[in-house]
Amino acid sequence: MHKYDLSVTEFLQQSHSGSIDYNDFIINYLEALKEFNKKLRLMQCVNEKTILPSAELYGLPVTVKDNICTRGMQSSAGSKILQGYVPPFDATAVSRIKDAGGFVAGKTNMDEFGHGTFSVHSAYGIPKNPHDPERTCGGSSGGAAGVVAAVPFPQIALCESTGGSISCPAAFCNVTGLTPTYGLVSRYGLIDYANSMDKIGVIAKRVDDIALGLSIIAGHDKRDSTSLAVQPKQYRVSRDLKGVRIAVPKEYFENLSPDVEKSVWDAIKLLESNGAAYSEVSLPTTKYALAAYYIIATTETSTNLSKMCGMRYGLHKELEGNFNQYFSSVRSEGFGEEAKRRIILGTFARMSGYREQYYMKAMRVRTLITQDFKKIFSKHDVIAAPTMPTPAPKFSEIEKLTPLQNYQMDVLTVPPNLSGIPMISVPCGHTVGLHLLGDHLQEEKILGVAAAYEGLR
Ligand code: GLN
Repeated sequence: MHKYDLSVTEFLQQSHSGSIDYNDFIINYLEALKEFNKKLRLMQCVNEKTILPSAELYGLPVTVKDNICTRGMQSSAGSKILQGYVPPFDATAVSRIKDAGGFVAGKTNMDEFGHGTFSVHSAYGIPKNPHDPERTCGGSSGGAAGVVAAVPFPQIALCESTGGSISCPAAFCNVTGLTPTYGLVSRYGLIDYANSMDKIGVIAKRVDDIALGLSIIAGHDKRDSTSLAVQPKQYRVSRDLKGVRIAVPKEYFENLSPDVEKSVWDAIKLLESNGAAYSEVSLPTTKYALAAYYIIATTETSTNLSKMCGMRYGLHKELEGNFNQYFSSVRSEGFGEEAKRRIILGTFARMSGYREQYYMKAMRVRTLITQDFKKIFSKHDVIAAPTMPTPAPKFSEIEKLTPLQNYQMDVLTVPPNLSGIPMISVPCGHTVGLHLLGDHLQEEKILGVAAAYEGLR
């Protein structure tokens, strides 16, 4: 352990009391970040323009997923089509971090536009798991989770989830990731994947670090029309398990790898023996979630990506032929295979004549899934489940998956993401996550249970 291997809380205490030489700290941090990046391809770019430490966060390093806009720093969402796009503005979450004194340490590598589960669809190299480089970091926020796992310094990572992209990489990299309630954190400046599901959240090593990050970025923003009318506040983390009612949905324990099943049950039993009570419940609409998710996600992304046409953002080419020929040539070159697959699927699902059968039907299924959750939360505080059905797979295993098998890996993370409820994945076995889901705006409940578990583990 070296002198800067501190939690965020320890770093802030020591900084504010004057016992940290910030200059030395940040030089060492950036060196370590670059070193790990060379081996593991976790970053899209590293920011060498350090700041003078000030305010609450005192120059705390904060990495930002590459689909969140950062002023003056390339924001390409992992895609070649946005290569060279340098936003003239910061996303609201980023400006709040900067106002609080955070240092934007760079942009983290990801699946192109958030399309993926293993970060293998980045146009900028594939991030590798720091615990075993033959395995994936998970996706789509693979770089974000990988950096938190690899670089032993106090820091937090801003990232995004549409259908599981925070929980999945947090689980696979043995770190903790919070996806807040939809609308709690402004989406202003987030390069959208599927607007009705996109959420900005936080990955960090400790639950307390996450609560701190959330306290800074959460709260109403008039520049995002879907932002909730919630005032910023300090998120408190109680670790009291007494009287906490945990629901364990049986549908989330089907087809798990044995390691995952055992680790998650051990975690639930540990919570029980420390004061919580659990009961098994059923969420019968779970089986429709994956299909509904992939219809909604691809439909929305196919619309969102139509603005990527080589005129305004990123990749430009010599103007040749008519506009349609120009658009086709830029889009053929700029989009990766998975983005193209999703554009084609989504365009089909929203074509007139099919819209009712696919997109509208999927939206109705989504309502049913939310009602299922609401029923459970009328009698329970949190739902406990595995985050992913397997530990982090090897790239050699991922190569063999068909697109459908690949999408099936998201079976446990898409239902809560469709409903916009908050969730946190906390490590409970090697590259295995315990997933705690809460009712809308009940972030403090899931943070509390996660922190209690973290302390007991
Ligand atoms: N793996 C899911 C997908 O590919 C989720 C991605 C995300 O949350 N951005 O759509």
